[in-house]
Amino acid sequence: MSQSIQYSIIIPVYNEEAVVRETYRRLTEVMEQLGEAYELLFVNDGSRDRTGELVEGMAKRDHRVKLLDFSRNFGHQIAITAGMDYARGDAVIIIDADLQDPPELIPDMIAKWREGYEVVYAKRAKRKGETLFKKWSAALFYRTLHAITEIDIPMDTGDFRLMDRRVCEAMRSIREKNRFVRGLVSWVGFRQTAIEYVRDERFAGETKYPLKKMLRFSMDGITSFSYKPLKLASYLGFFISFSSFLYLLVSLFQRLFTSHSVVAGWTSLIACVLLLNGVILILLGVIGEYIGRIYDETKDRPLYLLRNDPQAVQQELKVVS
Ligand code: UDP
Ligand code: MG
Repeated sequence: MSQSIQYSIIIPVYNEEAVVRETYRRLTEVMEQLGEAYELLFVNDGSRDRTGELVEGMAKRDHRVKLLDFSRNFGHQIAITAGMDYARGDAVIIIDADLQDPPELIPDMIAKWREGYEVVYAKRAKRKGETLFKKWSAALFYRTLHAITEIDIPMDTGDFRLMDRRVCEAMRSIREKNRFVRGLVSWVGFRQTAIEYVRDERFAGETKYPLKKMLRFSMDGITSFSYKPLKLASYLGFFISFSSFLYLLVSLFQRLFTSHSVVAGWTSLIACVLLLNGVILILLGVIGEYIGRIYDETKDRPLYLLRNDPQAVQQELKVVS
């Protein structure tokens, strides 16, 4: 007998063998209490450990567990995108696998959804067990993003959120390559609200977001939603041209009307040359970030590739007894 699914939970997993069983246990505990049909959609983002096998084992024992198996590591944002592509629920919930986002918050999100909100995102009131560097860099990132983007991307909010199926469908129509999912969810609009929570420590294992991925992620966020870094070139250009012009007037005055020698000053000269070249190179880099992303968009590559048969996955996801 086929029955519609009420809730889809999307769980991206990358080398999470240490936590995946506990995640399954905690999620099942919470979801079973609701007494409605649900699916746990694990997206295995090319794990090199036993994560995939563990999820496959769970899927064999529990028909509510589904696995989307990437052919390699495509990244967290792409993993949740794939989850949204295949989710069948009336409400779709994205949650990290490491239990930093407590599953016990899901019923509260569902309550808000029932009140009529189409997006319920979880705002981190506090972060436990993360390094000072992570907390500060995250705070700085969200504030910079807020300052330079036109659309209102909520601060201190990760991808832990509930979306109505209409929002999920809107998200599916967005196929851009360098995705900053939490920004895109703000961009699609609909009625959105927040609930606050204390972000726990990782249950086990280590962060799967090393500095390099974090930098890439923040660049994607900024470039996807703001041109301001490009405008920096014009602002700096005007400022430097204007101050150079003033300085030129001063030098001319000294040369023509005073006996002050203008020739001395290798130090100031070399300082100007190095500084300006540095600024120019940085701005070229900024332009490069945008051009690289334009190049990515022009290549018509799929966002991700699945190891298991997408048709079969789709079929399986449709039928839930
Ligand atoms: N993740 C993923 N692909 C990646 C990196 C991370 O699917 O390339 C998943 C990871 O398994 C976890 C979630 O994304 O479920 C968040 O990662 P993590 O907890 O390591 O990030 P942090 O909380 O440290 O920012
Ligand atoms: Mg985490």
